[in-house]
Amino acid sequence: MSRKSEYTHEYTHILKNDKRCMDDAFDFCEDYKDFMNASKTERECTNRIIEMAKENGYVEFDKSITSVSQGKKFFVNNRGKSVILITIGKEKIDKGVNFVISHIDSPRLDLKPNPVYECEDIAYFKTHYYGGIKKYQWPTVPLSMHGRIFREDGSFVDISLGENDDEPKFIITDLLPHLAKEQEKRTLGEGVTGEELNIVIGSIPIIDTDEEIKEAVKENTLKILYETFKIKEKDFARAEIEFVPASKATDIGFDKSMIAAYGQDDKVCAYPALIAEIENEKPVKTSVTVFTDKEEIGSEGNTGMKAEYLFEVMEDLADIQKVKVRDCYRNSICLSSDVNSAYDPTFADVFEKRNSSHINRGVVLTKYTGHAGKSGSNDASAETMAKVIKLMDDRNVVWQIGELGKVDIGGGGTIAKFVSRRNIDTIDVGVAVLSMHSPYELTSKLDIYHTYLAYKAFLLNNN
Ligand code: MN
Ligand code: MN
Repeated sequence: MSRKSEYTHEYTHILKNDKRCMDDAFDFCEDYKDFMNASKTERECTNRIIEMAKENGYVEFDKSITSVSQGKKFFVNNRGKSVILITIGKEKIDKGVNFVISHIDSPRLDLKPNPVYECEDIAYFKTHYYGGIKKYQWPTVPLSMHGRIFREDGSFVDISLGENDDEPKFIITDLLPHLAKEQEKRTLGEGVTGEELNIVIGSIPIIDTDEEIKEAVKENTLKILYETFKIKEKDFARAEIEFVPASKATDIGFDKSMIAAYGQDDKVCAYPALIAEIENEKPVKTSVTVFTDKEEIGSEGNTGMKAEYLFEVMEDLADIQKVKVRDCYRNSICLSSDVNSAYDPTFADVFEKRNSSHINRGVVLTKYTGHAGKSGSNDASAETMAKVIKLMDDRNVVWQIGELGKVDIGGGGTIAKFVSRRNIDTIDVGVAVLSMHSPYELTSKLDIYHTYLAYKAFLLNNN
């Protein structure tokens, strides 16, 4: 028997610290799986969040109101692709608010603006991948089509095709091993190139005409698209169409302890944040829970965290309460609620075990991200770490620390630095993920539940 030291600290399995949470965690994750299946893209996720918010008493924020009272709940819909939920606290916001910011975009394949072509009697879509993907992972995976496309007359259609059993799906081909001798000499990064990620969309030529049509399969495919969605080839130039894995979120393991799903980075943090926010009633401090877009391509654009949309709403709120927004920021804490890379024993070389997050060891507090000497990282202060750790410990939330990988082996970033530059104390807090950015990411149910408990504990922060 080993002696328990008074001085050391070991990060261990959640069930060693919280023996009774398993049933609650498994229940929580049933709803999480439903949420994932209904929220494959940032637009669908925004719709689902607003739907759930409205069901729970949130009303659209109107900046012309003259007062707000404790417990009042608002939502702000930014262009259908990012959303802010607010619960007004007892204190005015110049005393500080509790920000929880996750992102709802995920790596995927976007269509090019002129995507349709035919080659040797097969019709295809050209794609341009979005975010950091390992391109070789995407061929031979059933794909579904999502997005919005505008027509000549200004009307639009929202498409979701390939999610239901009776709907067609789409696929990218790969070379058979028998003929892949040369392909297999390529590096893994070049194993399948970006211009090889072409999606098969049809193979039957148009036959209802006597005249010879040049590209008859493309013609027939466009005819079906017109009959189904009333769209023409030119309309792809006024569209945002995303192809994502058609898979459903599913339990993994004999013990059903894990979940595989597409897009868990970062909806595995967005969902617990959403539930914690909805359940936040009459807080001391105002909570501002943000579901942002474009994190996977550097938080660019007017729906990403480099934009002003959140900070303008904060200014409006400050105006209503007749306080200064910069006082609010100085006194606020933000959880940048994003995932971390879980230690993978199969690829142990890239991790420094003592400082990596592990699945089932709880919510991950990531002090810094970045690469090559913390470059590009927010790097949370000792004071911020201390405050957040105390909040977790006081509520028995099981937490662990996490670093992205060994020093100088790679790196990454989150939205944290785009918030902290406003003079807001910010720290990354989220779920450990295996196979991150793959078509089917893996997480632990216990971790997801303790991440929810972490956000709940944080929203009770009143100092
Ligand atoms: Mn992320
Ligand atoms: Mn990511």
